[in-house]
Amino acid sequence: MKLYNTLTRKKEEFIPINPNQVNMYVCGPTVYNFFHIGNGRTFIVFDTIRKYLEYRGYKVNFIQNFTDIDDKMIKRANEDEITVKELGDRFIEEYYKDADGLNIKRATVNPRATEFMSEIIKFVEELIEKGYAYEIDGDVYFQTKKFSEYGKLSGQNLEELQAGARINIDERKKDPMDFAIWKKQKPGEPAWESPWGLGRPGWHIECSCMAYKLLGETIDIHAGGFDLVFPHHENEIAQSECRTGKPFANYWMHSAFLNVDNQKMSKSLNNFFTAREVLQKYDAEVIRLFMLSGHYRTQLNFSEELLESAKAGLERIYNAVGNLENLLNEVTLENMNDDEKEYAKVIEGYKTKYIEKMDDDFNTADAISVIFDMIRDMNTNINRNSSKELINFSLSIIRELGEPLGIAQKTTKLDLEKDIEDLVNKRQQARKDKNWALADEIRDELKNMGIVLEDTPQGVRWKKID
Ligand code: AMP
Ligand code: ZN
Repeated sequence: MKLYNTLTRKKEEFIPINPNQVNMYVCGPTVYNFFHIGNGRTFIVFDTIRKYLEYRGYKVNFIQNFTDIDDKMIKRANEDEITVKELGDRFIEEYYKDADGLNIKRATVNPRATEFMSEIIKFVEELIEKGYAYEIDGDVYFQTKKFSEYGKLSGQNLEELQAGARINIDERKKDPMDFAIWKKQKPGEPAWESPWGLGRPGWHIECSCMAYKLLGETIDIHAGGFDLVFPHHENEIAQSECRTGKPFANYWMHSAFLNVDNQKMSKSLNNFFTAREVLQKYDAEVIRLFMLSGHYRTQLNFSEELLESAKAGLERIYNAVGNLENLLNEVTLENMNDDEKEYAKVIEGYKTKYIEKMDDDFNTADAISVIFDMIRDMNTNINRNSSKELINFSLSIIRELGEPLGIAQKTTKLDLEKDIEDLVNKRQQARKDKNWALADEIRDELKNMGIVLEDTPQGVRWKKID
């Protein structure tokens, strides 16, 4: 399996430290608001990569943090007249609602920065002891020039970075590129006791610390959106490698932006849609198909048109699934004959091709094309004369290949049947309760769905009328 490593600017063979396990850290959201669908792209991309690694047999230790203390958190908490902790609790809960809604698998651990305070303080202390950081009047800065490899991730040296950066000139810093790892408390801000007085950590040190505590000195994959390459990840590398003397992460992965009119979707530009808004209009599978129809390192424009086309694409998949499911009720042949065994190999061939595409730096766009080709092939070659075994095999392959992408996971028919069963049961209860009006209402609702009920001695039966 190959993946593009931002650090080396090359596609490299992926070799995890432990052959069966992948330790992965993804920078998560700042929990001061609902997340937008641009953040959603990054979450979906790395959820897909995680699921694909699992599909390929790795055990994935997937850590995604919550940034629950920073300027934005403090500002919003003040506006809402609640504590920063209350704000974090609230939007972490909202995060889970939306992430679950997008079929994002829960992380192995979602650490919160504020729960690692004593560890972070220890980290800062150690950097000072080793001479990489210095304290000035309650603030602690990392001294970038002490780390000779500073700039290696973004591919620039210190002078270039300095020339290009719009940095606040802080007279107290030894060098303009030095960054805060501990910030002295300002009036009204939440703060923690430390050897440098009351204060709070800088954003970069939080991630360095949580990755170190939960995954160890060197991790396999560190990931996040493209905007995090500099300064966030560059600074994480500097802190972590100065502390341990070891490489911080072997592979660095960054996903490209979701744009609106060719500009990054962001809260500050006010050109965003929350994941929740989009989920009200589109099914999670449509959103995922849209997101994954482009390569994760290519920018993607958020547009109604592209979402509609993803919707139409997903319908094609479900039409095929529906047809296969219907055929299962019609066909009589149980097992595959020799011709079908040959055809099953053709289907296996699509799977091999899909794996080739995904193994090549998670090329979801091409992998999705393979799924469409496979479905077209199935539509023409599977019919009333096919065996149940072949049909079940085809259904299971569609589901299997859709799984890491988060598409084609529903069995439309069963879902519908479950809805019907639920309504039938609800009507039975209504009748027991002698709530005839409700019972009739449900009977009418079912009728509108094309379902008629028959009361039999064995209980209520339903059937579909065409
Ligand atoms: P934040 O809550 O701003 O720290 O962002 C959480 C994650 O979403 C980070 O990994 C960001 O890089 C990523 N992100 C922010 N905006 C976008 C966007 N428009 N497209 C893709 N990823 C984004
Ligand atoms: Zn981070």
